[in-house]
Order: sequence, then structure tokens, then C-alpha cells
Amino acid sequence: MTKRIAVYPGTFDPMTLGHLDIVRRGANLADTLVIGVTTNPSKEPMFSVAERLAMVRREVAGLAANIKVVEFDSLLMDFAEAQGALMILRGLRAVADFEYEFQMAGMNQQLNDEIETVFLMADVSLQPIASKLVKEIARYRGDIGKFVTPAVAADVKRHLSRG
Ligand code: ADP
Repeated sequence: MTKRIAVYPGTFDPMTLGHLDIVRRGANLADTLVIGVTTNPSKEPMFSVAERLAMVRREVAGLAANIKVVEFDSLLMDFAEAQGALMILRGLRAVADFEYEFQMAGMNQQLNDEIETVFLMADVSLQPIASKLVKEIARYRGDIGKFVTPAVAADVKRHLSRG
């Protein structure tokens, strides 16, 4: 039987408890879950891609044995194909995510109709979490402890104190 490989792409700037919940669910669905960490310079990430790769690897260590973390800097469909993926996993939060995700999934389907985009919902309590807001709260010295792990909170704090 062919292995069911799923790719979960994202910027993970930084990785939140919402991302981790999607990873946990995705790892249950697929034989192998490939987390694709995009370089995404257009988003001007707080953390470099090397920092985000190390962060994601650390956060998912011990979660499940079937998780791989890989950097990518190409078209998502090309990356997914190169990984031998059957599906792309995306997390859906609110209505606000829907339009963008719907459009992206539609265009990706036209690029490669053999790879399905599958949407997962995080636990209800984790759905409002967004990396962007985590960074904003941290910049104003708010407590991000409910949204990220202690190690990620320390990473963000360290980053902000570096200026
Ligand atoms: P991208 O730049 O690809 O949007 P993100 O790191 O912001 O990268 O998000 C990666 C994926 O995780 C996206 O599909 C996003 O919708 C999903 N995601 C992020 N936060 C949550 C959350 N709290 N609950 C469910 N899905 C989420």
C-alpha cells in the first residue's frame, strides 16, 4: 500500500498552540506528516527560517514519530509533489481565513488536481490564536503564555529584547 503523506505548510512565525493542535490531528490522519516551513520573505517574519525550523523541530519532538520538518522555498504544489504528498493540510480558523484559503485551494487544484487540500479545525479553545496577534501582544509586553508553549514564549521574549 502506498504511504499516505500529508504536507502541512506554514510560516510558523512563531509556532502556536493552534499550529501544534493541527500537527497532532494531521499526524493521526497521515502515515507521514511533513511540516513545510516556508521562507516567505514577503511576510517579513520575526524569526529567520533557520530559527523557525529549529523551533518547529523542538516543538514537535516527542509528539509523534511520523513527523518530518522540512524547509521550502518553492511553489507549494511543487514542494508537495516532491514530497510525494497525497494531501495538503491547512487549518481553518474563522470566516476570515475562508476566502483566502478557498482561493488558494482552488488555484492549487488547477496546478495539480491529484493533491487534495484538506482543512482541519483546531480545538475550539485554540481557534482564535494567530501568530500575528501573538507577536503584537508580546511587543506590548502582554502575556502570551496561553497561546504558545513556554519555550516559544521565551524565544519571542529573547527576540524582542535583542531589539
Ligand atoms: P501561512 O503563512 O501559510 O498562513 P501560518 O503559520 O500563519 O502560515 O499558518 C499555517 C496554517 O496553520 C494555516 O493553514 C493557518 O490557517 C493554520 N493555523 C494557524 N493558526 C491556527 C489556529 N489557531 N487554528 C487552526 N489553524 C491555524
